[in-house]
Amino acid sequence: MSNIEKEVAQRRTFAIISHPDAGKTTITERLLLMGKAIEVAGTVKSRKSDRHATSDWMEMEKQRGISITTSVMQFPYRDHMINLLDTPGHEDFSEDTYRTLTAVDSALMVLDGGKGVEPRTIALMDVCRLRDTPIVSFINKMDRDIRDPIELLDEIEEVLNIKAAPITWPIGCYRDFKGVYHLKEDYILVYASGHGHERTETRIIQNLDSDEAREHIGDEYERFVDQLELVQGACHEFDQDEFLAGKLTPVFFGTALGNFGVDHVLDSIVDWAPSPLPRTANERVVEPTEESFSGFVFKIQANMDPRHRDRIAFMRVCSGKYEKNMKMRHARIGKDIRIADALTFFSSEREQLEEAYAGDIIGLHNHGTIQIGDTFTDGENISFTGIPHFAPELFRRVRLKDPLKSKQLRQGLRELAEEGATQVFFPERNNDIILGAVGVLQFDVVASRLKEEYRVECAYEPINVWSARWIESSDKKKLEEFSNKAVENLAVDGGGHLTYLAPTRVNLSLTEERWPEISFNATREHH
Ligand code: GDP
Repeated sequence: MSNIEKEVAQRRTFAIISHPDAGKTTITERLLLMGKAIEVAGTVKSRKSDRHATSDWMEMEKQRGISITTSVMQFPYRDHMINLLDTPGHEDFSEDTYRTLTAVDSALMVLDGGKGVEPRTIALMDVCRLRDTPIVSFINKMDRDIRDPIELLDEIEEVLNIKAAPITWPIGCYRDFKGVYHLKEDYILVYASGHGHERTETRIIQNLDSDEAREHIGDEYERFVDQLELVQGACHEFDQDEFLAGKLTPVFFGTALGNFGVDHVLDSIVDWAPSPLPRTANERVVEPTEESFSGFVFKIQANMDPRHRDRIAFMRVCSGKYEKNMKMRHARIGKDIRIADALTFFSSEREQLEEAYAGDIIGLHNHGTIQIGDTFTDGENISFTGIPHFAPELFRRVRLKDPLKSKQLRQGLRELAEEGATQVFFPERNNDIILGAVGVLQFDVVASRLKEEYRVECAYEPINVWSARWIESSDKKKLEEFSNKAVENLAVDGGGHLTYLAPTRVNLSLTEERWPEISFNATREHH
């Protein structure tokens, strides 16, 4: 095995998908603790108090300044190197959250056991499905009163359209939570409350059919054994191939707060989830173990340090090896640049290895030349695909306070849209400017940055747009016919692409039905 092959085989790159408050921050902390990347729980948490602050500009700076350190977390676990990519979920939810999911090889779905599948979980699963990303599931908050576990599995299968294979099964919940039973390995992991903040020694009872197990489960023993029989009869068994194809998810139960069952999850990612996968470029498929370097940019984060108006481009390495001071070809503009000071994201204080392999993320300082979706190589001119724009879900009309600054406004909105967190639309029938975003905070971010960086003040007004779809058709005549008929709802986006702005969900489905020759795309590839 070559060195590159060895490094790639050790890597796992994943993200967490969950609805706000399901426990993403808490589980992230536990995972970092397991990788010994932090010593005490609470480190990740501290950012949360800032996160609920007002959208005042300084607060936003601070918030994003802190989040740079947690946007990518790299830590070692069991001879593997884990990259955990943050998926902003509260007010900072944005298109970046979706796009981050295109840069991982697997995902961990965290559900609140009391609530089950929630709306944000569904939206994020839809994004994972674009690449058939393998999903591991964790049902959290077993120390609370949760819903019937069988019902939860049914809900995963029905609502998310993926088979659910329980690997562990909970013994009781809330005050009667006694642990989880490992269905494949026939042991009970005993729950002890109150040890959330330390790595604790855990007690294991081998064999469900043992006196120790009977004693531990007590009066409920017979009922639990009956239920297990039912579960084993009715549920899917774990199947590695189906998991890798994104068609089946292994399910674990536990409590992130109690630091219980989280190790099962990390073990399953190491044992079952794929190491960095090949990536498709327009020209060819790139294998992660190739000697030559390549990577793509999936996120650009601005103004992390208010003193330097710098932007960081987050790049996923796809092949080869990054080394300090290496030369990279910026494939879109065909220029070679020397990268002296890329950021790496190793979470502990240990000596930083200034190298990165496929699956790793590095941060490049960007002075405006790097866009979302850009490919970097060590000389080859290729461009990776599968890093799309996502249709915005929220829309506002932008009103300029000083009408003489219309040019600056348009330029500012276009440039900010290139960073990928918002999109701008120019309707065909009037001179409105419409801003679209996936998360509501982005509107404030844009207003603040327009003021700071472009000296333009703007305000927002509500507008009757439900969603946007990028229009395409191989039938030029039909496209022209449609363009004439639907002119009321057509706009071009910041990159000049024709877009249909649907006022309602019903309008969109009727229009799609009426124009079968036209595709209405919810995502658009870059360039
Ligand atoms: P996020 O919004 O998904 O990042 O969720 P957090 O990790 O911030 O958790 C939301 C709330 O649920 C916090 O008050 C946590 O302390 C709490 N929480 C998280 N995990 C558990 C758990 O296993 N049991 C209980 N009882 N509470 C939990």
